[in-house]
Amino acid sequence: MPGFRVHITGSTLVGAGYAAATWAIGGMPPATCALAGGLCAISGMLPDLDSGPGIPLKESVGFAAAVIPMLMIHRFEQMGLPMEAIILAGAAIYLGVRFGMTWLLQNYSVHRGMFHSLPAALIAGQVAFLVFGAEDPLRRYFIASAVVLGFLTHLVLDEIWSVKLGMFGPKFKKSFGTALKFYGPEAWSNLLTYVLVVVLGVLAAGDAAWTERTQLMRQQIEQATRTFQTYQGPWQYRR
Ligand SMILES: [Zn+2]
Repeated sequence: MPGFRVHITGSTLVGAGYAAATWAIGGMPPATCALAGGLCAISGMLPDLDSGPGIPLKESVGFAAAVIPMLMIHRFEQMGLPMEAIILAGAAIYLGVRFGMTWLLQNYSVHRGMFHSLPAALIAGQVAFLVFGAEDPLRRYFIASAVVLGFLTHLVLDEIWSVKLGMFGPKFKKSFGTALKFYGPEAWSNLLTYVLVVVLGVLAAGDAAWTERTQLMRQQIEQATRTFQTYQGPWQYRR
């Protein structure tokens, strides 16, 4: 199993490539590209959150707790919350993730369980999509894909490390095939994972439709205000 450093290096390189490629193609603001690259790098730590107490758990949970509320700032603004409420909500999410997630992971997860699988990568992407509220749907997909990419980089690295090249061809370690998997040996955790995938998928689809509708409405209102402002009615006084 590759160590923490290999994982963070791998996902950082992939993230930098993802950001640079998108920036080169164009269409995304440089800051969005940089954010996606950073998120991809961090997401490379996510699958090993279930490996028990240690640097990955402490660092990644702390990081997630800090980053998630910041990604959500625009969501809070969309809800029309005042600044004070945004700060309070951010603090509550920080505490919830910091302590709630640690507790959940330490009590209810097995290493290389379903937390460390392909559907879990999808869940991470769906959560990122829901958390990162942007009017432009393309930007949300871009950010969510960065998280999935970082997660997948980790799984692929785990699989690569489980193959050892010997004198008589490749040798497969016992851990081979436990990272890039669709389901695990435990039925209930498989069920829970796929229920989560479906629920989050429905939420994300509904949210995407809602954002699109409100954006359309906003555009129409802006358009109407503009035509109203340019219209010089007979009732307007010229000063
Ligand atoms: Zn791993």
